[in-house]
Amino acid sequence: MALALRMNVLVLNAGSSSLKFDLWETSPEQLQADTNVLLAQGVLERLSNIPEALNTVFDIVFEKARGARVDAVGHRIVHGGDRYFLATRIDAQVERDIEELGALAPLHNPHNLAGIRAARERLPLAVHVAVFDTAFHHTLPPCSYIYGLPYEYLTEKKIRRYGFHGISHRYVTRNFAELNSANSGGKTRGEYRLITCHLGNGCSICAVEYGKSVDTSMGFTPLEGLMMGTRSGDVDAGAILHLITHEKMGAEDVLQLLNSQSGLKGVSGVSNDMRDVLRAVGAGNERARLSVDAFCYRLRKYIGSYLAAMNGADALIFTGGIGENSAEIRSRVCDGLSNLGMGIDPVANASESHEARQIGTSAIPVWVVPTQEELLIAHDTMRVVLGLPHQ
Ligand code: ADP
Repeated sequence: MALALRMNVLVLNAGSSSLKFDLWETSPEQLQADTNVLLAQGVLERLSNIPEALNTVFDIVFEKARGARVDAVGHRIVHGGDRYFLATRIDAQVERDIEELGALAPLHNPHNLAGIRAARERLPLAVHVAVFDTAFHHTLPPCSYIYGLPYEYLTEKKIRRYGFHGISHRYVTRNFAELNSANSGGKTRGEYRLITCHLGNGCSICAVEYGKSVDTSMGFTPLEGLMMGTRSGDVDAGAILHLITHEKMGAEDVLQLLNSQSGLKGVSGVSNDMRDVLRAVGAGNERARLSVDAFCYRLRKYIGSYLAAMNGADALIFTGGIGENSAEIRSRVCDGLSNLGMGIDPVANASESHEARQIGTSAIPVWVVPTQEELLIAHDTMRVVLGLPHQ
């Protein structure tokens, strides 16, 4: 019986010019014991044609997994709007909704949808499941998601904060609670107040109060909040209006400016890659130093505001490429937080590891928890296929 339920789940993350994929072998038992097996994994970059790229993915999947069939496909979808809170089996209506939500996420949803359409055509018998990056944040209270605009802009135009990176914030929340279960007397994720910092190319921070996202730094789009690799994060809307009215910049110019020319790249003039920027800081580059100072300062301010949002926290967690790998950034951020009860141990912080680990034993412990978004998408997909309750 157990054998009959063994499944191969393909996870697809189709972006504007890249396609990431993972093929997981899983079963209800493996799901329970977290012993799913990764059969194949890859990233195809600089793409112009998603269906063509999918053919390459299938060739790799068949070769690496020795002809393994694909039973289900989990699709990462950036925007689920205020409609989709849970992993959802994709049918024609769900496809239409994702297309419609492209109006809210024009840089992401159309590419995600191209991935769905190509994969459904190639694998018509597999179960296709959408896992949304906004879903974890559906618990934001209205006071946290509303902008200070007239109320009709929320109800009629759906202008509100949605939040993104939800798959990652949910994964680290869950993993942190599981890792601490034994030495916390079996505390579950519903018993912690966590501040989770996802620092990758895109960066966001989340206040997770007793298992629920109650605030997060990304808003209507992934532009709001922290400074990122190429995105500005928070900018006074008045400054943008100034660029439009006085500098005569068009919508497309502003879109490019804020999404592709700003953040670490724009301030440092060096790179969007934190490693390059830190090397330039080491070589005495002043603009690079300013970009890192601004990056860390803004993150510290957000951490402080989330302490206020939850009236405290039980742990601060770093994840994402920068959060997991850069001891220097973690140390620059936490050095300014000692009076708030957060600090790191320099030795533990400096030790290189790919494991989840505690790096500070301050009143509010500091942790690094590597994210595994694809694994969580595989889990969610499997649960939908088996009709198990959502987690
Ligand atoms: P994505 O958001 O695309 O998934 P990642 O989570 O992989 O990206 O994060 C990419 C970022 O992580 C880049 O800015 C890269 O410079 C940074 N990064 C990776 N390793 C290190 C490191 N050792 N030190 C500093 N930054 C790092």
